[in-house]
Amino acid sequence: MKYIPRLIFWETTKGCNLRCLHCRAIPEMMTSREDLSTEEGLGLIDQIVEFSNPILILSGGEPLFRKDIFDIAEYGIKRGLRLSLATNGTMIDKDMAKKIRDIGFARVSISFDGAKAETHDRFRSIPGSFKAAIEGIKNLIELGISAQINTTIAKHNYKELPEILDLALELGVDALHTFLLVPVGCGVDIAEDQMVSADEYEKILHWFYDQSKLHSIDLKATCAPHYFRVRAERILSEKKAGLKPTPFIPHGTQLKAGHVDKVTTPPHPPTSPQPSPRGRGREGQGERGHGLSAMTKGCLAGTGVCFVSHKGEVFPCGYLPAKAGDIRKERFQDIWNNSLVFKNLRNPDLLQGKCGVCEFKHICEGCRARAYSATGNYLSEEPFCAYEPSVPTQSMGTSNVGQGFSLAEVESAHTEAEGVMPELSLSWSQDAKDAVMKIPFFVRKKAVKSIEDYARGRNIAMINIEVVQEVRGLKGGERV
Ligand code: SF4
Ligand code: SF4
Repeated sequence: MKYIPRLIFWETTKGCNLRCLHCRAIPEMMTSREDLSTEEGLGLIDQIVEFSNPILILSGGEPLFRKDIFDIAEYGIKRGLRLSLATNGTMIDKDMAKKIRDIGFARVSISFDGAKAETHDRFRSIPGSFKAAIEGIKNLIELGISAQINTTIAKHNYKELPEILDLALELGVDALHTFLLVPVGCGVDIAEDQMVSADEYEKILHWFYDQSKLHSIDLKATCAPHYFRVRAERILSEKKAGLKPTPFIPHGTQLKAGHVDKVTTPPHPPTSPQPSPRGRGREGQGERGHGLSAMTKGCLAGTGVCFVSHKGEVFPCGYLPAKAGDIRKERFQDIWNNSLVFKNLRNPDLLQGKCGVCEFKHICEGCRARAYSATGNYLSEEPFCAYEPSVPTQSMGTSNVGQGFSLAEVESAHTEAEGVMPELSLSWSQDAKDAVMKIPFFVRKKAVKSIEDYARGRNIAMINIEVVQEVRGLKGGERV
């Protein structure tokens, strides 16, 4: 199976104006001398587009601390990448928001650690940071920029989650993504105090399931791989009880029609047949922020996601310190294809402990970073999952009893939640069908129609992977 990066996080600098208690980066007040230079950054972009068309998320530290951040972004967009900015939001005044809009970021995510200043500022260690972040997000939304709130769930704020959701809805952001704290960076120091228990987390994930059916917002439990298990379990239990599961409001569907028109056309056309402007979607309104939430299983570290550190080291994700390579020494594509860490993460049969025998492992995999932080072994079991697989294991202290779902049942529940293959009117090879299933389900039907129209117009009898890639390239979708 061929793996292609779908999301690449680049920690553009370690410098930051805040000192958040849970920050992975242990930020410095200045950009670091070790940060990749502008040239190296542009080179990284060249290496990425050589073989993939992912969403590139510029993060930090605080990416807006980097003086050349807009030059880098402009170049990435020129090369056809969809770019996202992950920021603390405190530096986004009206002028900055205009710059962000004019460059053409597909989305900006801002971190909130609480629904009110008291909670957020205490965690951020800077009074006023909540107010500044709220201003930042409002400035973005006013200009029609797709905004997302990221919240790291910890003991100090998990009871505020409903209010954080209310805040997200009130502000009119497109997405709310929550992360369970991973004990790395500064997070190590606060982990004992702040990690919510597996049982508590289980309740949160069930709450998420319920909310995902109620609100027209992209509500995602990120880095909570077992959400995929919870979701499948809920669907299967509802079916067993003879209930008809209520449909999900799919990822990425806040996407208000009015927003699309407000987005400014970017100043630079792509250099060759490339994605539609920043993924704003020729394939319809549903594509604003297209693919920014696309996700097909729990942990994507090393299979669809990777992280490039401020000094060019490559990791499966920003929380898993298992180094896969170094772009100052190797080609990015070689690291992605050949590193042992990535190869291991691509093989669920290597998972150990209860994850290794779990009937949900193919859609979940557990958080490899939390496994690493608990045991030093990233293939060991996820320590914050309350589920006990139906196959007996040595694990202790679980609060759930495996329900013995078959793999086929798990797969069908997962497919139901993620979407199904649209009806096909031409012949398709299996690899072409597999590729289509990787397209976010909310645009899959439209994508299939485009591909079939294309094939008909050229008298192509059998749609194979090359045809799919060709059409996706022209339409600006992710390469699949
Ligand atoms: S290992 Fe996977 S689930 Fe855990 S933090 Fe990294 S990407 Fe997220
Ligand atoms: S035991 Fe592991 S694979 Fe199974 S649901 Fe929990 S975290 Fe996921």
